[in-house]
Amino acid sequence: MPLLITLDLEGVLTPEVWIAFADATGIPELRRTTRDEPDYDLLMRGRIEILDRHGLRLPDIQRVIATLDPLPGALEFIARLRETTQVIVLSDTFAQFAAPLMRKLGYPTLFCHELVVEKSGRVVGYTLRIVDSKRCAVEALRALGYRVHSAGDSYNDTTMLAAADRGVLFRCPDNVAREFPQFARTQTHEELWDALMR
Ligand SMILES: [Mg+2]
Repeated sequence: MPLLITLDLEGVLTPEVWIAFADATGIPELRRTTRDEPDYDLLMRGRIEILDRHGLRLPDIQRVIATLDPLPGALEFIARLRETTQVIVLSDTFAQFAAPLMRKLGYPTLFCHELVVEKSGRVVGYTLRIVDSKRCAVEALRALGYRVHSAGDSYNDTTMLAAADRGVLFRCPDNVAREFPQFARTQTHEELWDALMR
């Protein structure tokens, strides 16, 4: 069966958008990510409430994202992967955030979510195409006859990693590694390449 790779975006190819935004705005509560909070809806509703409280809008976040670059080595990593096999980026980020990062990564295929934004730029919610979309994508790709190897760094990747033929953790926090010892743990893009492709 042909091999297909699915990759998480933030923490694997790019920095965490929300952490960068927390640092830029000096709002420490925004540093919580899927690495800390397993309940994604709780996390997102909290973030939207914080944005509202501080009067921050989508363009404020996009300005920070525009300053972000892929993680060192990530562009070379994904370019080499795409020369070798098929790659899909499966992310719980939002289309409104991802665009500048995708440009810097050479426009890999991306499946992600969308923010609900008022004309004023105020973020009022988000839409998921489907619940547990990373896992569903991997299951659908396997049903199409692909062998799927997947990599991610956080709680929101673990159902994807479990559904894949091979799941690999990349620079994950210790709590995730402890809870999911069945997945190989990698630290560098070189190690990640070996874990996915060997
Ligand atoms: Mg991540």
